[in-house]
Amino acid sequence: MDRRKFTVRGVVQGVGFRPFVFNLACRCALAGWVLNDAGGVEIEVEGPAERLEEFARRLVEEAPPLARIQDVRAEDVPARGESGFEILLSQDERERYTLIPPDIATCADCRRELFDPADRRYRYPFINCTHCGPRFTIVRRIPYDRPYTTMHVFALCPDCAREYGDPADRRFHAQPNACPVCGPRVRLLDHDYQPVESDDPIREAAERLKQGQTVAIKGMGGFHLACSALSAEAVLALRGRKRRIQKPFAVMVRDLDAARALCEVSSEEAQLLESYAAPIVLLRKREDCPVAEAVAPNLEEIGLMLPYTPLHHLLLEAAGGALVMTSGNFSEEPIAYREAIDRKTLVTLSDALLVHDRDIHMRCDDSVARVWAGREQLIRRSRGYTPLPVTLSVRASKPILACGALLKNTFCLAKDGQYLLSHHIGDLENLETLESFESGIKHFESLFRCQPEAIVCDLHPDYLSTRYGEQRAETDGIPLLQLQHHKAHIAACLADNNCFEPVIGVAWDGLGYGEDGKIWGGEFFAGEPASLERVGHLAEAPQPGGDAATHEPWRMALAHLYSLYGSHWRDRLEGGVERWSARPIEVVESMLAQGLNVPVTTSIGRLFDAVAALALDIEAITYEGEAAIYLEAASRRAVDLDKFYPVDVRWQGERFELSLEALFEAILRDLDSDVAAGEIGYRFHHGLARAILGGCEGLRERRGLPAVALSGGVFQNTLLLDLVVPLLEAAGFRVLTHSQVPANDGGIALGQAVWAASQQSK
Ligand SMILES: [Zn+2]
Ligand SMILES: [Zn+2]
Repeated sequence: MDRRKFTVRGVVQGVGFRPFVFNLACRCALAGWVLNDAGGVEIEVEGPAERLEEFARRLVEEAPPLARIQDVRAEDVPARGESGFEILLSQDERERYTLIPPDIATCADCRRELFDPADRRYRYPFINCTHCGPRFTIVRRIPYDRPYTTMHVFALCPDCAREYGDPADRRFHAQPNACPVCGPRVRLLDHDYQPVESDDPIREAAERLKQGQTVAIKGMGGFHLACSALSAEAVLALRGRKRRIQKPFAVMVRDLDAARALCEVSSEEAQLLESYAAPIVLLRKREDCPVAEAVAPNLEEIGLMLPYTPLHHLLLEAAGGALVMTSGNFSEEPIAYREAIDRKTLVTLSDALLVHDRDIHMRCDDSVARVWAGREQLIRRSRGYTPLPVTLSVRASKPILACGALLKNTFCLAKDGQYLLSHHIGDLENLETLESFESGIKHFESLFRCQPEAIVCDLHPDYLSTRYGEQRAETDGIPLLQLQHHKAHIAACLADNNCFEPVIGVAWDGLGYGEDGKIWGGEFFAGEPASLERVGHLAEAPQPGGDAATHEPWRMALAHLYSLYGSHWRDRLEGGVERWSARPIEVVESMLAQGLNVPVTTSIGRLFDAVAALALDIEAITYEGEAAIYLEAASRRAVDLDKFYPVDVRWQGERFELSLEALFEAILRDLDSDVAAGEIGYRFHHGLARAILGGCEGLRERRGLPAVALSGGVFQNTLLLDLVVPLLEAAGFRVLTHSQVPANDGGIALGQAVWAASQQSK
């Protein structure tokens, strides 16, 4: 008899790993034990050598579907002559950390039981098992065991306790296990917060939704506001309450068939919709899509998701159709998740509330994804993905906290080769979001037993994330590093590809604070990942009124015209003065003439604004990137696909600038000849793609770099990707794009963390 000890690291808790080990040990007729400890799973097995070998092989090969094994260590230990195999209680060891699984959509077995009248959990809205259910959002601390989750207040009934203790059962050690006898319950509350008498609160809520009401629904990681997506009236009422004017809402439908009735769904998209992460997937609307235009104004796409909790399944079954499911909050605030604290907000936002008594410990917004070129591309990485780590070859020798940027903030904790990118925090522009950021960091630090020994943040002195980083570094007496915004984008893209060779980095977005104190956003870098050098950028343009120009695209159009033609711009733009007559044209002109309150920018986002203002007549916008999104949608309708506007790559020594005179000349000519807006938009996109190619080819000649990394929010624009990636590849470049980490500012924290880790190793 031999005895061997295995230590398994990775996502191995809360995924049915111990029962799997138990069953495997029994099948191999081995004695011993298994336990969860704070470092993962520990196993000791005893038996003949060949059966130990078999066990070791099958441990990895047959691991449960949700497990992600990163490392298995085996060592021989003295045999003890044990018989039988046991699952031992968890051990709590201070020094170690383990990985917590994300929240997982209801599995097929649980869905079957949910609708089976003979099952004891028939229509029970909290059914779950070791393969599905809440995880990240209910964990209060580690190890991942029931007493340390928000389920600790529910004592298991004898039936549930039997399942929980039976290694042959699908609910063996399923921490959120519950049933109608012993588990959480739903209630429907009226607008005045009084309970509504009903045998079936979910059906009653569905009835109200059918009548056009807005119902706040407590979900996995927070409250949704739901209303019928087929009723323009209901959707507009919700927009009014939430103070969200145009930004698209997500929609939930019952199943894949219902999704196909609204949108075109490819097989990859179907897979993503039905994946255990169950993100919102951006899909192209069908011609006959019955969803109200107000759900996603002016867009060809809508974000669809499928039910991912049993409560959702029951609700959608009763309500039918399609429901808007948007985060329960006022626009710009973090998602509400605590009934008691957020009560006032929720009552103001809805006509009724469907609530329950399973607490959410950590808020977590829905993730947003799309399929591009057959590949999943995350736009918001949150529920269903967080807190899975990004595992990289660059190791943090000391723990690092990266604070992220301003908009779409996430933070990142790095330890060894594990990068724990947080859930979506939001735009760090108010106190509520700042609190969510700070409490999120605290939770991650305790969950992963990680005390940062270095902080990294953005260069922008005014970002709340930068200020937090500065204060934290001072309080803790640890070093503070700062990384320029667009360099962090490129680092994030390299991390997303786990490829850290010298590259050309193209970082295009709305704005980031530049190393020269100017607003950057159309940047080219080259060199080693750890020491990128700015080698090219968009020509500087005035941004009249600074921030005001980001909300009013017409200002950028006027700025470009004024730079090119001075006060003669009025002669060049037919109807220009009339089209902006309600705007303070003279004020902005005099700002431009005198250079007062006119910072300069190299932002591509602002260039998109200018072109959208000219082509689509957009004067003002209500959410970040709105004008560019409309321009992309319009450009998709273009038919003349060979045309493009000229953008000159102007070299000065080893650096270049993309100059825009010829581009605007061409746009004005097309406007004069009444070329359709979509054609103008397309020629603009195509021109930019060729400009990227031109810049990269010039850099390759000078520096011999064969790979290009594309990052920044502008590269969520799939038309631009569709145009530029084939151009670069045809020219022989290896192109790195984003997939598991957002190209937008949601990926910045990962870029900061991996860069800081590479500085440590220098
Ligand atoms: Zn299940
Ligand atoms: Zn029970």
